[in-house]
Amino acid sequence: MSRYKVTVIKGDGIGGEIVDEAIKVLDAVTANEDFTITYDECLMGGCAYDITGDPLPQETIDSCMSADAVLFGAIGGEQWDGLPRDKRPESGLLRLRKTLELYANFRPVKVYDQLVDASSLKPEVVRGVDLLVVRELTGGIYFGQPREKGEDTAFNTMVYSKEEVTRIAVQAFEAAMLRDKKVCSVDKANVLEVSQFWREIVEEVSKDYPEVSLSHMYVDNAAMQLVRDPKQFDVILTSNLFGDILSDEASMISGSIGLLPSSSIGGKVGLYEPIHGSAPDIAGQGIANPIATIASASMMMRFAFKKADIADKIDSSIEEFLALGYRTKDTASFGAKEVCLTTEVGSIIAEICCR
Ligand code: NAD
Repeated sequence: MSRYKVTVIKGDGIGGEIVDEAIKVLDAVTANEDFTITYDECLMGGCAYDITGDPLPQETIDSCMSADAVLFGAIGGEQWDGLPRDKRPESGLLRLRKTLELYANFRPVKVYDQLVDASSLKPEVVRGVDLLVVRELTGGIYFGQPREKGEDTAFNTMVYSKEEVTRIAVQAFEAAMLRDKKVCSVDKANVLEVSQFWREIVEEVSKDYPEVSLSHMYVDNAAMQLVRDPKQFDVILTSNLFGDILSDEASMISGSIGLLPSSSIGGKVGLYEPIHGSAPDIAGQGIANPIATIASASMMMRFAFKKADIADKIDSSIEEFLALGYRTKDTASFGAKEVCLTTEVGSIIAEICCR
């Protein structure tokens, strides 16, 4: 019987609440399979800093490096905001992404038919939206040197190498080949040299994918087009900072940030996490929406373990959960027959998976 090891990082805020539900669903859906999953729970973020003085303890890195996949909740919270940059929860996550060489972040945005009314946009604008943001994750302004915060000035540096742009562009084109064969590369080439460079390299990579149509869009226009007509997009390829912002914007097309999963790949092991943060405002209340994390576990099954049938089962169970009229508080006003607590969502989806 094969065995898979998953490093589980619950993190801060609602992290533990939502990850527990994803594991509940994974346990249910894999109960009769010919493989087992063992979970190794590790610390990262503010909770790790509080216990070890380091937001990313070496033990966590070691566990991830020897795992088949990493399932992650979220990190962060106001109580750690005043710490020096390298001690803050976010720096733990950024370091983990860099250490695991997770340069490619995939953020699918799919609108569930049952939730078209939950979007802040008109139903006819969002019905059928199915796009993928491919975000560069280990370069750009989040990592660029030099960086400094002084008394009178502060600066960060947006830097990309040819290798970094090439490999993320290849990921976007490969993804497009399995979808509608359209890549829209988003940059700010009218102002930034780094974007002009990005654009040239994306053009170069596109020559290897003659079946894929490539367009370019400035990020300010992309922000507008995403809410004007999101259905025009298939794969959006973009840099670290632009992707961070655009994918949060895109999340509202779906109705709630609590619905959207992500996967990050590059090195030996991939990381699967919801796109939202630790939601300190609702932490501990049992009302967080775990669907994004459950859908991230589905992506883990599909991409890390190549178990498409199990991933399909999880995805269809989420849809059935919504079709039956179950909602969480963040989407409660939209077609809800019953508003569920976080733990109830996991239990119901797990039960549907086993039918
Ligand atoms: P957030 O995503 O945590 O929350 C934004 C809003 O969305 C809040 O109102 C929250 O209640 C709601 N929300 C988020 N997830 C939800 C869910 N699953 N169900 C229902 N509602 C949900 O973003 P924020 O408030 O800007 O940041 C809070 C903390 O999270 C900060 O410390 C930030 O640095 C951190 N953060 C972490 C990650 C990560 O771990 N990957 C990502 C973004 C932000």
